[in-house]
Amino acid sequence: MGHQAGRTGETSEDSEDEPTGGGQNMTGMGSLINNETSIVPGGIGSVISSAGMDDGGSDDFTKYWIEWFLSLKGNEFFSEIDEEYILDRFNLTGLNTEVTNYQLALDLMTDSLEEDLDEETRAEIERSARHLYGLIHARYVITSRGLAKMVDKFRRAEFGKCPRVLCQQQPVLPCGLSDIPMENSVKVYCPKCEDLYHPPQRRHATIDGSYFGTTLPHLLLQVYPNLVPSKNGERYVPRIFGFKVHETAKVHRKQDQIRAEQEKRLLLYGVDKNKDSPPRDS
Ligand SMILES: [Zn+2]
Repeated sequence: MGHQAGRTGETSEDSEDEPTGGGQNMTGMGSLINNETSIVPGGIGSVISSAGMDDGGSDDFTKYWIEWFLSLKGNEFFSEIDEEYILDRFNLTGLNTEVTNYQLALDLMTDSLEEDLDEETRAEIERSARHLYGLIHARYVITSRGLAKMVDKFRRAEFGKCPRVLCQQQPVLPCGLSDIPMENSVKVYCPKCEDLYHPPQRRHATIDGSYFGTTLPHLLLQVYPNLVPSKNGERYVPRIFGFKVHETAKVHRKQDQIRAEQEKRLLLYGVDKNKDSPPRDS
């Protein structure tokens, strides 16, 4: 109670004046845009319809655009792109042909949009700005600085955890199935089972996968090899009344045999796989 004393009695917008870095606190704006709206590839930014923008009050426009964008519910996967990166035109090469209202969208994103625009035009530019942010994001996250930011998010498991039981809550990384916009939504990659999953939160399932790209998780793990989790070779064995299911068990035995042979061969080449635990528990 005490710590809020300075603010009691003020309007709710008051709290939004502070440019907080994390963008987590701006629930005011986020919740406006929140309910079941989503960024659908193809209709990106349709979210920011009149409902979103006008109710926020004039104060919301004083916030930095990127900060505001990142604070929206559903945009948690995105990392903050450094302004210097956006302002370096070299990094944006070719994007002007991909985004309508490119220049205005860029101005809006960098908080330098000075033109007085009607609501409809503004909403349109807003959509373009979101799309442009995503396209720049795809390039940014595979720079060393961008990777470092994604590593921080990965360490905090902000992209979620692998739903596979035997992966034991391994944090996942965002991954696109295509580098071309509007083809697929973003997926998450588990470095432990090396497989792809739908994002655990439904609100992330509509983010365009190209905003993260096909390269990100794999490049990240190559640049930060210490983040590659140890694989324990554990796998689920189907059983009926405690007995292994015959056909599956046969296939598994064969696979285990091949695996053991491969490991033996690798050992000859000096590759020692750290064997945390034996692959069976029977
Ligand atoms: Zn996994």
